Amino acid sequence: MRSLLLAGSQSRWLREQATRRRFVRRAVSRFMPGETVDDALAAARTLQESGLQAVFTHLGENISDPAEADAVTRHYLDVLDRIRMMNLSAEVSVKLTQLGLDLGAELCYANLGRIIERAGGHGVVWIDMEASPYVDATLELYRRARAASSNVGLCVQAYLYRTQNDLESLLPLQPAIRLVKGAYKEPASVAFPHKRDVDENYFRLAAQLLAAKLQGTNVRVALATHDTVLIRRLTEAAASIGLPKDAYEFQMLYGIQRAEQLRLAKEGWSSVVLIAYGTYWFAWYMRRLAERPANVFFVMRNLFG
Ligand SMILES: Cc1cc2nc3c(=O)[nH]c(=O)nc-3n(C[C@H](O)[C@H](O)[C@H](O)COP(=O)(O)OP(=O)(O)OC[C@H]3O[C@@H](n4cnc5c(N)ncnc54)[C@H](O)[C@@H]3O)c2cc1C
Repeated sequence: MRSLLLAGSQSRWLREQATRRRFVRRAVSRFMPGETVDDALAAARTLQESGLQAVFTHLGENISDPAEADAVTRHYLDVLDRIRMMNLSAEVSVKLTQLGLDLGAELCYANLGRIIERAGGHGVVWIDMEASPYVDATLELYRRARAASSNVGLCVQAYLYRTQNDLESLLPLQPAIRLVKGAYKEPASVAFPHKRDVDENYFRLAAQLLAAKLQGTNVRVALATHDTVLIRRLTEAAASIGLPKDAYEFQMLYGIQRAEQLRLAKEGWSSVVLIAYGTYWFAWYMRRLAERPANVFFVMRNLFG
C-alpha cells in the first residue's frame, strides 16, 4: 500500500483528478489549515496560544522555471516579514528543488541565501531533505550555507544507510539538525526496507545527537516524529544521561498527534508544528497517506459521507 501511494504521488493524472474532487480536498484539510499563507499564519497564532511554535512550508517541489523559483523565494521573504510583524514564534522550511536545484546549484544557492539573509537572527531556515538522488547536492549546499551563516538547519533521514556517516561529518559544523524517518520511495540499496530497522536507526541517530549535545557540541537537535513509543524511549534516554528538556525539541506535522504535541509543550519540551500550505498539495498529501495507509479509509469516509 505504501509503495502504491508513493508511486501515485508522482502521477500527473491522479493529481489533476484529486485536486478537483471536493471529498479529497475535505480530507486534505485535516493536515492543512488552508491553502493560503493567511490560513497558515492564523493557525500558528492559535497554536502559539497553547504553547506550540510553528514552522511554515509552502508546498511545491521540482520547479523547472527560474522565474517560478524566484517567486517562491520572494514568497518566503514575505512570510518572514509577516512572522516578525505578527510577533510569531515561527520559522520556515524550504525544499531546494522548489528554489531551483534542478536548474543548477548556483541559482538555488542564491535563492536560499536571500531567504537566510532575511531571516537574520530571527530563527533558523530549515532545509527539507528530498529523495535520495538529491542528498549529496543538499548536503553540499547546506555546508556552504552553514559556513556563511549560523541560522540554517538541515533535515536528515533515518531510513538512509548513509545518514550516520553524514551526521558525523555534519556535527563539527555546529549544525541545526531535524531528524526524520524519511518519506520517499527508496530502493533497498540505499534505505532500510523494514520499518523496524528504520525505527531502530532513528533511535541510534537521535542518541548520537543527544550524546553530542551532552558533550558540549553546539548542535540544535529537533526530533521530528509522531512515534509516541520512540518519543518516550528518547525522553527516557535523554533523562538517563542527564540532558535537560530544553537541550532538544520535538517537531510534528499539523493535524497529526495533536494531543502529544500539547502534552510535550505542557511538560516542558519545545514542541513545534510544521504547517504546510499552498495549492500544490497532492504529492505531499500522498506521502502523508503512505505514512499511515489507514488515512485512506479516512478519505473514503469523506467520500461516502
Ligand atoms: C516536522 C517534520 C518535518 C519533516 N520533514 C521531512 C523531510 O524534509 N524529508 C522527509 O523525507 N520527510 C520529512 N518528514 C516526514 C517523515 O520523514 C515521516 O515520513 C513522518 O514523520 C512519519 O514518520 P513518523 O516518525 O511519524 O513515524 P511513523 O512510524 O510513520 O508514525 C508513528 C505514528 O504516528 C502517526 N502518524 C504518522 N504519520 C501519520 C500520518 N500521515 N497520518 C496520521 N498519523 C500519522 C501514527 O499514529 C503512527 O503510528 C517530516 C516530518 C516532520 C514531523
